[in-house]
Amino acid sequence: MAHDGSDLVPVDLPRGIRAVAFDLDNTLARSKQPMSEAMGRSLSGLTALTTVAVITGGRLGLVRRQVLDVLGPSTNRSAMVLMPTSGTRCYRWDGSSWRCLYSYDLSPEDRAAAAESLERHAREQGIWFEDVWGDRIEDRGSQVTFSALGQLAPSSAKESWDPTNVLKNRLAEAVAADLPHLEVRSGGSTSVDVSLKGIDKAYAVRRLADLLRIDVGSIVFVGDRMDPDGNDYPVIAAGVFAVRVSGPDQTLRVCDVLASRLREPASLGAPVVPAL
Ligand SMILES: [Mg+2]
Repeated sequence: MAHDGSDLVPVDLPRGIRAVAFDLDNTLARSKQPMSEAMGRSLSGLTALTTVAVITGGRLGLVRRQVLDVLGPSTNRSAMVLMPTSGTRCYRWDGSSWRCLYSYDLSPEDRAAAAESLERHAREQGIWFEDVWGDRIEDRGSQVTFSALGQLAPSSAKESWDPTNVLKNRLAEAVAADLPHLEVRSGGSTSVDVSLKGIDKAYAVRRLADLLRIDVGSIVFVGDRMDPDGNDYPVIAAGVFAVRVSGPDQTLRVCDVLASRLREPASLGAPVVPAL
């Protein structure tokens, strides 16, 4: 189950928290926007107390713009773990730059096959539009994404395009039949993603626990989509202490609650992140 961030108090949180993992969009920041300076100060403060992970479906470039560029100089970057593209890649700070610890990319053959299948079926289904905002197909290495209106479409256009998911689901079904060994799912409001099978945020939190040599149960995960259709939902079954928030304002409050818990004498002295 997920705990509601609106009425969370320190005593609700487990003792012995070893890491706090955050979803990005609509948790740390509004979708695709940089997080607030208040959030920057709050995250920075947490890095002095525990390991702070960011787990997102987006790419590292978005994590840089939305999170890293806002963090102040006092941030303990060595206590941070960045897990973009749903944990298929993992980055740690080596003292001067973000070093990629691992990357599970689709093979070049699978990426080409995914792009070909997405375009062919989108054309057949009448949703391969010429007048769009940016690329319709983006190769993210670990994920190939089709965006019906282009990557840069304004959110108003995106949200009204396929509100009942019929068009995305039909495309996803056709592509999945071509690529049964890959995961094909409808992603955002206009997108269909092709990725390795079994890659979701549950996979990411398990990888995080392995990396830090801690129990999944000692990770607190904060996210906005803990409903069964949401992309944060799988972490609940993975066994983290899950906190559901309504948006960045509530996340700020949850960060305060976490910081109070982590400052309690029983929590202090806990190992932060193992050295690289
Ligand atoms: Mg989110």
